[in-house]
Amino acid sequence: MSNEMKALKKARPEPGLVMSREPVPEIGPDDVLIRVNKTGICGTDIHIWNWDDWAQRTVPVPLVTGHEFAGEIVELGRDVTGLSIGQRCSGEGHLIGKQSRQSRSGKFHLDPETRGIGVNEPGAFAEYLALPAFNVVPLPDGIDDEIGAILDPLGNAVHTALSFDLVGEDVLITGAGPIGIMAAAVARHVGARHVVITDLNPDRLALAARVTDVVPVDPRAEPLDAVVQRLGMKQGFDVGLEMSGSQAALDGMVEALVMGGRIALLGIPPGKSPVDWSRIVFKALTIKGVYGREIFETWHKMIAMLERGLDVRRVITHRFAADNYAEAFETMRAGSSGKIVLDWRQA
Ligand code: NAD
Ligand code: ZN
Repeated sequence: MSNEMKALKKARPEPGLVMSREPVPEIGPDDVLIRVNKTGICGTDIHIWNWDDWAQRTVPVPLVTGHEFAGEIVELGRDVTGLSIGQRCSGEGHLIGKQSRQSRSGKFHLDPETRGIGVNEPGAFAEYLALPAFNVVPLPDGIDDEIGAILDPLGNAVHTALSFDLVGEDVLITGAGPIGIMAAAVARHVGARHVVITDLNPDRLALAARVTDVVPVDPRAEPLDAVVQRLGMKQGFDVGLEMSGSQAALDGMVEALVMGGRIALLGIPPGKSPVDWSRIVFKALTIKGVYGREIFETWHKMIAMLERGLDVRRVITHRFAADNYAEAFETMRAGSSGKIVLDWRQA
């Protein structure tokens, strides 16, 4: 193995990323070295590419970016047990601390010291990635590398969708981005009754209908109260999953829910936005903010569901060799694609 690798990095504090040659990362006693096969491009990577305010405040320069990956273990740190060379894996990209109350009580995803690979620490858009063995999630044979590379966002979808009991419930998802669409597939898989997904982008609505059995709605063309009537729900939706970050979508969701309905919020609004709290109080709604995945409960559940028929493959709309990253990012930035996977073995 050469001690140099290709990696996609933010080289300067300006828009874009560059493919560069970097040293293969060194691993510590509790880490593994992973040969990266495939990576997914996330909305977060687009923020980093665009070098928006959030990215400028958050991302150190230079930094190898990327956090959605699948690959195989090629080196084990001295103290690593329970993993082996050649093991196929994905992994949790949040590196947690061990000191906080949350972490020490096993709520790893709520640790305030968390640092993200590809955001705060060297990431996965590279031929090799060093990762704590703790973060490794082995992949069963039935889950190939391109699905392995989108388990991170699927985990967001699963974490959000499983926030509330969906069995027999009528579910409204606002935002048919890759995560909203995968959440719709999960809601179907776990036994929701009606699953409605809204978006303003017709390409995204068409993609949602190709991926799963969902009712796609542009709320400008058909208001949600008309959808409620059309589907024969008496009062409204039982559960809302907000996955657009849009204030208008959240307002519409609050109106379209039944009394006592429940909302899980994953979408990140661009800034502060006015909320009609009295509506939420008088409708006795429950609202839950959702961050990341539950480590490692969400991983367990999503792998189990994938092995028992959950199918999200069609959310992957584009595949590129890693060397063609510029075209891949351009496609993603256009805002109508599903997930885009980069292949690092076919560079
Ligand atoms: P995305 O940007 O690809 O999709 C969002 C979709 O919402 C787009 O298709 C857009 O057209 C649609 N939209 C915009 N306004 C709308 C409206 N008024 N009604 C309905 N749809 C509308 O994003 P994604 O990658 O699928 O992620 C979904 C959201 O989750 C984003 O806001 C993202 O920032 C957020 N996110 C949060 C976490 C977390 O840990 N909380 C993790 C990952 C992503
Ligand atoms: Zn991601």
